[in-house]
Amino acid sequence: MQADDLINRLTHSFSDRQLFLVGGCLRDRLLGRESSDLDLATDARPEEIRDRVGDWADSVWSVGEKFGTVGLEKGGTKAEITTFRADTYDGVSRRPEVTFGESIGDDLARRDFTINAIAQSVHSGEVLDPFGGQQDLAARLVRFVGEPEARIAEDPLRMLRAVRFCAQLGFELEPAAAAAIATSAAELRRISWERIRDELDGVMLSPRPDEGLGLTIDLGLAHHFMPELERLHLPEPTRHMMKDVLDHTLETVRLVPADKMLRYAALLHDISKPETLSTDDSGVHFLRHERVGAEQARAILSRLRQPASLIHQVAVLIRHHLRIPYYTSEWSDGAVRRLMFDLGDQLGSAIALAEADVAASDPRDREEFEARLQELRSRIEEIGEAAEIAQMKPLLSGDEVMELLGLEPGPRVGEILDFLLEEQIEGRIATREEAEAAVRDKFGSGGQ
Ligand code: ATP
Ligand code: MG
Repeated sequence: MQADDLINRLTHSFSDRQLFLVGGCLRDRLLGRESSDLDLATDARPEEIRDRVGDWADSVWSVGEKFGTVGLEKGGTKAEITTFRADTYDGVSRRPEVTFGESIGDDLARRDFTINAIAQSVHSGEVLDPFGGQQDLAARLVRFVGEPEARIAEDPLRMLRAVRFCAQLGFELEPAAAAAIATSAAELRRISWERIRDELDGVMLSPRPDEGLGLTIDLGLAHHFMPELERLHLPEPTRHMMKDVLDHTLETVRLVPADKMLRYAALLHDISKPETLSTDDSGVHFLRHERVGAEQARAILSRLRQPASLIHQVAVLIRHHLRIPYYTSEWSDGAVRRLMFDLGDQLGSAIALAEADVAASDPRDREEFEARLQELRSRIEEIGEAAEIAQMKPLLSGDEVMELLGLEPGPRVGEILDFLLEEQIEGRIATREEAEAAVRDKFGSGGQ
């Protein structure tokens, strides 16, 4: 079912009730953007909303129980219908006291930004725009409804939401909004990591993650959720020029595809350069920054309550991010196979990250790197069996190794298993018989 058909259906079911398109869905429609799900507001209470849609919707559910939002789906299109609200804040816990509002006017007044505080009646088509939201849409500005500092004090997450909308829509902060955020940035500490994560994810996956991240740094917001970023302001000499690690990082984020794993890997790939910086006669070094960085990325993403699978994938990409840029024709097939083993099914992502990393370092290196990358790609293809390599395990078990050599359990057995895996990845052994021979040869009596 198309969105407009669903609107017609709802118009019918709410013929004797008020019903307005609101929020992000109306904003996106007015901008001519592909709108996601429908957001609506009504004077009907949640129980009644359910009654009115229950007999024809494919499914109906509650969104955030206490706010009384009803979600529904019909023919693949979703809508969320919320009873008019008039939230008040007690000024102490700063949690909203959710109360039902009497009118659409109350409901719009509690919303965050003028561009999100527009309503359109589904019955008359009339647009209600008490705060000049349409003007701000045209001027491409994010402006608070009401007095910025007071609205931030009610819910400091709005600071990060403002940045998220700038990044998603390509808008700018209205000057008073920017000034109030800069003044109130520390209030972000009152917000849960989960809420911060969700808005930050929005920035990261937007078309302008670099601009959004830059804003969080300039406004002092990043200081409270990822202080590691500010420290990246660090000059680094490269072959042709000085580059700033932070600028390079933001550029890398912009250049990778809009995929959550890749965007976070790009953001954090050089995160420990400040910690690992050293200088000697031969110049500036960042020794082991890819290892230290992978661990630091784990800590940062755990703090942000990101899922364990994402944290692991990002850490793997960072841990190995230097290898592909440094690929040369001299690599043995074993080295190529080792790369395939270490990256597993993240090999494609690692290549995408490497391309962005090189392009963001010095565009002059790009062409030469693309040629090397082309060669690496065809060697990977020639070797084939990428999935098999990624899943390789030692050809013999620990028990079998112990029996073969008459060993007791101990670290020696682990070393031998590592050796077997290494030999297999290098392509020197492929069967159990070859594995046994290799073990006897190297570790049996007479061996080392
Ligand atoms: P998107 O299309 O990205 O979902 P959205 O505008 O719908 O954008 P949501 O977070 O889904 O953003 O919020 C829906 C609406 O609820 C907003 O447009 C805004 O009017 C209101 N809103 C959401 N969060 C807040 C908040 N913290 N303070 C005030 N109003 C809010
Ligand atoms: Mg929304």
